[in-house]
Amino acid sequence: MPAPRSSRFDDVYFSDSDGLAESSYVFLEGNKLESRLAATSRFVIAETGFGTGLNILNLWRLWDRVKKPHAQLFIYSFEKYPLSKAEIATALEPFAPQLDPYLNHLLDHYPLRVGGWHRLCLAKDVTLILVFDDINHALPQLHTKIDAWFLDGFTPSKNPDMWSDVLFAAMKRNATSTTTAASFTAAGDVRRRLSLSGFHVQKQKGYGQKREMIMAHYQGGEDKICAPHSVEKVAVIGAGLAGACVAYDLHQRNIAVTLFEKNHIASGASGNMRGLFNPRFSQQRHAQSEFYASAFAQAYHFFETHADKIDYVQIGSLHLFTDAEKEKRLRGAHENWDWHPDHMQTTDHGLFLPQAGSISPKALCAHLARDIPLLVYDVLDVAKTESGWRVGDHSFDAVIFAGGAEMVAHPFLSSLPIHTVRGQIITGKMEDPTPYNICYGGYCAPYAQDEVVLGSTFQPWLTDTSSREEDTQLILKNFYDAVPDKKDSITVTGARAALRCASKDRFPIIGALQGYEHLYVSTAHGSHGILSAGLGARLLADHLTNSVHSLPTATLNALSPARFLAVKKT
Ligand code: SAM
Repeated sequence: MPAPRSSRFDDVYFSDSDGLAESSYVFLEGNKLESRLAATSRFVIAETGFGTGLNILNLWRLWDRVKKPHAQLFIYSFEKYPLSKAEIATALEPFAPQLDPYLNHLLDHYPLRVGGWHRLCLAKDVTLILVFDDINHALPQLHTKIDAWFLDGFTPSKNPDMWSDVLFAAMKRNATSTTTAASFTAAGDVRRRLSLSGFHVQKQKGYGQKREMIMAHYQGGEDKICAPHSVEKVAVIGAGLAGACVAYDLHQRNIAVTLFEKNHIASGASGNMRGLFNPRFSQQRHAQSEFYASAFAQAYHFFETHADKIDYVQIGSLHLFTDAEKEKRLRGAHENWDWHPDHMQTTDHGLFLPQAGSISPKALCAHLARDIPLLVYDVLDVAKTESGWRVGDHSFDAVIFAGGAEMVAHPFLSSLPIHTVRGQIITGKMEDPTPYNICYGGYCAPYAQDEVVLGSTFQPWLTDTSSREEDTQLILKNFYDAVPDKKDSITVTGARAALRCASKDRFPIIGALQGYEHLYVSTAHGSHGILSAGLGARLLADHLTNSVHSLPTATLNALSPARFLAVKKT
């Protein structure tokens, strides 16, 4: 079978003669990986052009053969035109026996084709950050020391964009004294620019018919720093979505975690019986939109895998063009966010996301927290000790504040601009329910035959959590105004109100709290919280386990509590 070919670039993904052998020769041997991986406890690879994933699967095979116990492999791979799972499976069919079981694991974890950074935990010791983006847009956001580069982005004459100054600047910025690079090309311009960026370049015989390839190593740079020890015991305050998600993530990474809660699991806003998961849309792609795109893909994958535990209903969501401003924003997202048409479409009436759906937040919290010890806590009973932190009578290395509304008055969080927002939802029975969720400012989410949930009010000025008839009527009116065809189709069966937590800039707050060691926060998930709590958990778990960054630097900065300390420029 001939090697897969890109008609866009008129070039092959890998050698026609034996792609797997070429991959070993050029990228693994070219970076001397067999001996280096065998000697490391932490190694970071970056690849330009994920393509079929052949190089990465081949690398993973080698890693499994030579790795030390407890060592960790991190891989960044950048891809502007992601192939589908079926295309990857077909392209790698000739190597299926050698790539077993790695190929199937990759296909199981392969994300939705939505522009953004996707962290795939391929195995306990192998993490792939698959970045679906133009390398020139993504690489300026990478600030992590890289041990070895696979430069594999089609022949420079056919794809000069892949070999731009942005690439060489990123290689220099992220180099240590032991960083290497290898490439199938020996193009003079590539060699010259690598040299100018501080790399010593050697030519050697290329694979098969190819005359030459290059190997390079960085000259100078700092020594590779050993990662500090990660924490072992962590207290998570708050057993709603944010807390349950972070406790689950830490538990998955073998950290001893304890949940502390004033009431019981999902007693606040996370206790709703149904919640939609949708990104917050913006006209442009920017730091915040990157967060929601990654969060959506991550949540979708998790919900698909745990569907039966969380009352998962995946029927898609239609976001109506309720006014000209909204239409402009939604059409802008469609144009600029770079989601494959399988995942984002426009109709005459709105923006449709086929993979969006709803879950039971309450069931999700219970599922995530099922193996985590849960203790009752008193807000004031958190204190610094000589060696770490104390909550009640228990000692921890780190504390994470992951509550919602109750965080607003918390003494440790007094510097954060957060406030409560009351929200009421209603449940009902609907005649001839809509075939998908409908969002119009409020939302209508059908599930289980004729059951629906409609929400939500947005009342920062109220703190009463009893449900109110006037709010029920307002929720119904908003729906009937947006979808007049469905007027009077709903019989209300219940209502629930709760206080959510929001920040001044309406973006979640996730990261280390300034001025303290090992004190973290994940809060302000008041809207789109099902998505943001999940990704927030992953970011904190990454941080606490010395993993690599799995989001653009600008997004991490936009989430950080430190953003509110920034001095205003006059
Ligand atoms: N390493 C791949 C494998 O193991 O199958 C083969 C990579 S193929 C030679 C080059 C890849 O670079 C293609 O998948 C292509 O879509 C991607 N690509 C081309 N231009 C790009 C750009 N500007 N940014 C990111 N990826 C790009």
